[in-house]
Amino acid sequence: MTTPNLDANQLKTRIEAVEAAHSALCSREVNLDFTRGKPAISQLQLAAALDGVLDGDYLTADGTDTRGYGGLDGIPEARQLGAELLGVSAENVIAQGNSSLTLMYLYIMHACHYGPGGQAPAWHAGALQAKFLCPCPGYDRHFEICEDFSLAMIPVPMTGEGPDMDRVEALIREDADIRGMWCVPKYSNPTAETYSDETVTRIAQLARKAAPGFRVLWDNAYCVHDFYDHQPLANVFELAQGFGTEDSIVMFASTSKISFAGAGVAFMAGSKATLDGFRKRLGVMSIGPDKVNQLRHVRLFKDRAGIQAHMQQHADLMRPKFEIVRQQLEAGLGNQGMGRWTDPKGGYFVSFDTLPGLASEVVQLAAEAGLKLLPAGATFPYRHDPHNSNIRLAPSYLSEPDLEQAMEIFVTCVKLASLRHAQSAA
Ligand code: PLP
Repeated sequence: MTTPNLDANQLKTRIEAVEAAHSALCSREVNLDFTRGKPAISQLQLAAALDGVLDGDYLTADGTDTRGYGGLDGIPEARQLGAELLGVSAENVIAQGNSSLTLMYLYIMHACHYGPGGQAPAWHAGALQAKFLCPCPGYDRHFEICEDFSLAMIPVPMTGEGPDMDRVEALIREDADIRGMWCVPKYSNPTAETYSDETVTRIAQLARKAAPGFRVLWDNAYCVHDFYDHQPLANVFELAQGFGTEDSIVMFASTSKISFAGAGVAFMAGSKATLDGFRKRLGVMSIGPDKVNQLRHVRLFKDRAGIQAHMQQHADLMRPKFEIVRQQLEAGLGNQGMGRWTDPKGGYFVSFDTLPGLASEVVQLAAEAGLKLLPAGATFPYRHDPHNSNIRLAPSYLSEPDLEQAMEIFVTCVKLASLRHAQSAA
């Protein structure tokens, strides 16, 4: 921390000033929620034309009435849309209900019980203690799924170009119980990094080195969520096809952060073997997904170009918010050695690292001032951040004036925790 010129008295005076600022913020009695990456109402409004877009015409191009039962894979037009989002052929995609997270959960349940390809060995078979590689900081809900199925989680650090692949490969060599790995390859949650071509190429080959039944869960939730120029991402499935490892890549995406967060369309993609195995489960649990909603999405967006044009409007709403976060962090904390943070070019989050050991204190101080942050540790497996330093900021939902206030509180809390830490360390 850069307080070398402050003697003990000066430090005390500075702490008192920041404490006074914190008390003043507490007395405002605001109630601001910075926890989840929710689209703002203005973003949801962009897709309001979904209502009414069908105008009484419920038929797909092949004449199917979407109001009826059936069509387990989703309608062909929606599968094509998912294929364009994920960069695969439509036959490698199924279009389902509103949540990709649900598909991930179901896929893991299927892998644990029946085996990842729908056949043995299942991840829960016999004495096997199946383990998952968890790049982190990462998405808390991925880690919750692993916990729910008692899949032991092994943290792997992120590098700025995706997971540390030397570490991933070493772990896979050493431990035959490792059966899977989470990946959020573009604008990763929460670090906002996009995996480099080299990272993606190495991930595509992992199954050659891993135990049979190893799977990469490729959650491309932010595939079209650029704020500026389009950020390219290597095509992991194509690469895997070249290496003969395509069964190991299971991909997910949804329109939750494109259209309606609670009423979008989710996609799962993979090899024929992967989808055939999973279809057996789907066919038992459902007679078919909500095809009417799928048709609405296809009519509104048409294709990937339509989605990209729509996402430009999202970007116009997101950029100013991320700009507020960046400006306030720079103005309040720049060059002070009180933390470091990301400057995302897309996605939904800013990742902030406090000085080691201070994240939970910052979260607590913020709560006292009416700002709710994701609990410290949530971005790590078992909610354990070994450095107690990572905090995920989610700027999308708050209005710009609320965001200004939220950042004022956040910056003040980081300052206070950092200065108190400097005092106790002196
Ligand atoms: N995957 C990631 C990485 C996310 O950040 C989120 C939401 O924040 C989801 C999945 C949720 O997706 P869905 O709404 O399709 O279930």
